[in-house]
Amino acid sequence: MTKWVYGFGNGKAEGARDMRNLLGGKGANLAEMSNIGLPVPPGFTISTDVCTHYYANGKTYPADLEAEAEKALLAVEEIVGAKFGDVKNPLLVSVRSGARASMPGMMDTVLNLGLNDETVEGLAQQSGDRRFAMDSYRRFIQMYGNVVLDVEHYHFEEALEDIKDETGAVSDTDLTAEHLTTLIERYKKLVADQLGKPFPQDPKEQLWGAIGAVFNSWQTPRAITYRRLHDIPEEWGTAVNVQAMVFGNMGNTCATGVAFTRNPSTGENLFYGEYLVNAQGEDVVAGIRTPQHLTIAGKKAHGSDLPAMEEVMPEVFQQLCEVRTLLETHYRDMQDIEFTVQMGKLYMLQTRSGKRTSAAAIRIACEMADEGLIDSREAVMRVEPQSLDQILHPRLDPKAKRDVIAKGLPASPGAASGIVVFSADEAEKLAQLGEKVMLVRIETSPEDIHGMHAAEGILTTRGGMTSHAAVVARGMGRACVAGAGDIRIDYKSGRFSVRDVIVAAGDWITIDGSTGEIMKGRVPTVQPELSGDFARIMEWADSHRRMAIRANAETPEDVATARGFGAEGIGLCRTEHMFFEGDRILAVREMILANDEAGRRKALARILPMQRGDFEAIFDIMKGLPVTIRLLDPPLHEFLPREEAEFQELAASLAVDAKLVQARASQLHESNPMLGHRGCRLLNSYPEICEMQARAIFEAAVAVQNKSGEAVLCEVMIPLVSIKKELDLLRSRIEGVAAEVEKETGIAPKYTIGTMIELPRAALRAEEIAQSAEFFSFGTNDLTQTTFGISRDDSATFLNDYQRYGIIEHDPFQTIDRDGVGELIGIAVERGRKSRPEIKLGICGEHGGDPASIAFCEELGLDYVSCSPFRVPIARLAAAQASIQADQK
Ligand code: PEP
Ligand code: MG
Repeated sequence: MTKWVYGFGNGKAEGARDMRNLLGGKGANLAEMSNIGLPVPPGFTISTDVCTHYYANGKTYPADLEAEAEKALLAVEEIVGAKFGDVKNPLLVSVRSGARASMPGMMDTVLNLGLNDETVEGLAQQSGDRRFAMDSYRRFIQMYGNVVLDVEHYHFEEALEDIKDETGAVSDTDLTAEHLTTLIERYKKLVADQLGKPFPQDPKEQLWGAIGAVFNSWQTPRAITYRRLHDIPEEWGTAVNVQAMVFGNMGNTCATGVAFTRNPSTGENLFYGEYLVNAQGEDVVAGIRTPQHLTIAGKKAHGSDLPAMEEVMPEVFQQLCEVRTLLETHYRDMQDIEFTVQMGKLYMLQTRSGKRTSAAAIRIACEMADEGLIDSREAVMRVEPQSLDQILHPRLDPKAKRDVIAKGLPASPGAASGIVVFSADEAEKLAQLGEKVMLVRIETSPEDIHGMHAAEGILTTRGGMTSHAAVVARGMGRACVAGAGDIRIDYKSGRFSVRDVIVAAGDWITIDGSTGEIMKGRVPTVQPELSGDFARIMEWADSHRRMAIRANAETPEDVATARGFGAEGIGLCRTEHMFFEGDRILAVREMILANDEAGRRKALARILPMQRGDFEAIFDIMKGLPVTIRLLDPPLHEFLPREEAEFQELAASLAVDAKLVQARASQLHESNPMLGHRGCRLLNSYPEICEMQARAIFEAAVAVQNKSGEAVLCEVMIPLVSIKKELDLLRSRIEGVAAEVEKETGIAPKYTIGTMIELPRAALRAEEIAQSAEFFSFGTNDLTQTTFGISRDDSATFLNDYQRYGIIEHDPFQTIDRDGVGELIGIAVERGRKSRPEIKLGICGEHGGDPASIAFCEELGLDYVSCSPFRVPIARLAAAQASIQADQK
C-alpha cells in the first residue's frame, strides 16, 4: 500500500532530507529538523505522489488519503495538546505548498486555519487576548478567501480601509477587538456575496479546501510559466505541508524572524538576520514595520538604533545561535532559516540552502573547506560559474539610483558609463581627449574596432549574442548591450530615442552588460576585487579539471589578459582583426582591389612584417603554450571602403582613378557575404594571402625560438572548410612555406595544421577531412548559423519571441543546441577519431565560455574549450564541475 502522508514533530519524523522528491524541499527539511531534535511545530506532509494521483485521476484523491491524514492530524493534536475544531482549546494549522524546487507562482500559505465563529472564542479564552483572536480570524478569512476561494484581494483591502476610516484608526494595529469583530462580519458577507454561499465554518472542509487549492495551484498559468523558464518537469508535482500554528504575535514575549547562518552578500561567518517582536511571519517580509537586527554587531554595522534580538531576548537568541551551528554542521552549507518565538519559546519553521552573491559563495566555500565541513571538490561545486561574471567586471553600485530607459541583450558583462557617441572615429577622438565614451551604433563592423576599444561600453540596436559587437566586446572585456530593438538611432541628427525619451550625442548613459539594462545618466559603479579566496577556488578547480582552457584573443593586450586569467593556450587568434588596425587597412584594401596577383603580392609584402610582429608578440606572451592561428576568414566585402574619402585615399595610394576603384569594389560586392567568398574559399582563390600569413607565422615562431631557446607551438587553422580538397590545397601551400622558412633560417618551425568544423558538411565528412587535419576546432557560431539557417547577426528579434512561445528553451547562439548542432558535433568527433584516433579536438565558438555547453564538451571528451579572455575563469570552473560530475556518474 502506498504511503501518502508523512508526519513530523516531537523529535522525530517519518521523512528525511533525502526525500525531497517525495516530500518537496520544505517538507523534507521540516522532517530533517525534527529528526535532529530541533523545535519544529508538529505537522505532516502530503506527498507529491498525491499530486500525481490527483491529476492522473480527474482531480480526485487516493481512497485511503483521508484516513491517513486524519491519523496524522491526531498525532499533531496529541503533541500540541489541543484539538482541531475544538471550541475550547482549538488546534490551528498552517497549510503551505512545497515543491522539490522552490517555486514562486504557486499557492504560498494559509495561516490560522481551523478558526470559525466558535473556535475563535476558544482562542480568545486560551490566549487571554481577544483582540489577537479576532485579528487572527480576520487574517484567516482574508487569506483563505483570496487564495482558496479566489475572492480578489482588493475587496478585503477596501473593507479594511473602510473600517479604519469609520473608526479613525491610522494603522491596522489601532483596530480594537470590537472593530475587528465588525470587520469579520463584513468579510464573511463579502465572501458570501461573491460566492453565493457562506464562508466555510467546518474546519475539516477548510482543511481539504486548502489542500485542494495547493494541488490546483500546480497548474496555474503562473506556475506553468515558471516551470518552463526553470526547466522544472510537470510530473514532479507539489507536496502540501500542514503544520500546527505557532504565534509570534501574542505579545512582547513573541517574535518572528528570518536569518542566514552567514552573511549572504559578503559570505562573512557572522549570523545575519532580522526579526520583529509581536508579529507574524509576513510582517517581516512585507515591509509594514521596519525589521530589527538579530545581533548587536548587525545593528551597529547598519547604524540602526532599534534594539537587537540579542539584547531583547538574550536567552532565545542564544538558543537560536545553537540552532545555527547545528544546522550548518548538519547541512554543511549556509542556511536560510525562518523562526517564530511564542511566549519565549523558539520554533523553527524552515531551513534551506541560502541564496548568495558570487563573492559570498566563494568565501563560504573556502571557509567551509578550511573548517573541514566540505572537501575541495565540494567547494568547487558550490560556486556557480556564470556568477563569476559578477566579480570579474565592474558592476553598478547596488545603492545607486537607476533610471532604466530600455533593455537589450546582456551581450558582454560589466557596467559602464560614458557620453554617447555615434561613430568609432568620434569615440577614439574623444577618448584620446580623456572623455569616457559610450559607442552607440545600429550595429558594428570590423571597421569599428578602434572605437570599440576606446569606448567604455558598446550599445547596439541590432544583432544577437554572437553579433560582431557582442563577440568583440566580450573579447576586449568591454561592457556591451546588443540588439536593443526599442531604440531608434538617427545618425544624422546625432540622437537616439526610446519612445518619448531622447538622448543626444554628448549625454551620459550607463549600460549594464550583465542584465541588458540601459540607463539615463551616470550610475556609479564598483570595481571588482579578486581576493585570495577566488584564487584558491580556481586552483582547486584546476586540480579537478580534465579539459584544457584556452582563450580567443588576438591583440597582445587581450592575450596577456587571458594568460592572467589562467588560459593554457590560444584557441582562436582571428587574424582579420589585425588587418583593420591603423594604416594596415589601406594595404589590405590595395591587396583586395588589385587586379592581378602581382599587385596583391606587392601589398601583401607590406603587410607581412606587421603581421609577423603581431605573432611574435603573442608567442612571446604565451611562452611555449599552444597558439591556434586562424588564417583570414571574413568576406572581402568587409574590407571594402565605404565612404567617398576612403575611395579617394585608396585611389591615390594605388595611383589610379577613383572610379576604377569604385568599379572594382562593386564587382566584389556580395549580397550574402556570410555565405560567400570567405575563409578557405578566399584563400584558395588568392593563395598568396595564405602564403603571406603562413610565412608571418613561421618567421615569428623561429624568431621567438631563437630568442627564448624554447620551441613555439603553432597550430595553423583553416576556416570554413566543407570539402577535404579545400584543405589539401592550402595544406600543401603552408607546408611549402614552412620548408622555405626552414631552409632560410636553419630552424624547422614546430607546427600542426587543422581546420575549423563550422559547416554541417564538414561535420558529416569529418572522417575524410581528418585525414588532412591534425586538429578540429568547432566553430559553433557558424555551425549554429548554418545548421539552423538563422543569421547570427539578425536573430535577436525573433529568438526572443521563440523563447517566449516555448519554441526553443535557450538562445542556440548562447547555449549549444544539443539535439541538432550537438548531434553534428558528436558525429564529427566520432568520424574524425575514426580516421585519426589522436586528433586534437576543441571548441572556439562563443559556446566555449558557456557552462552548459562546456558540460556538453566534457561529455564528448573534447580536449579543450576556448573562450573570450574574461570568461576563462568561468570556463575553468565549469570544466572542473563537469569533470567532477562525470566522475560521480
Ligand atoms: C565560429 O564560427 O564559431 C567561430 C569561432 O568563428 P567566427 O565567430 O570568427 O566566425
Ligand atoms: Mg566562424
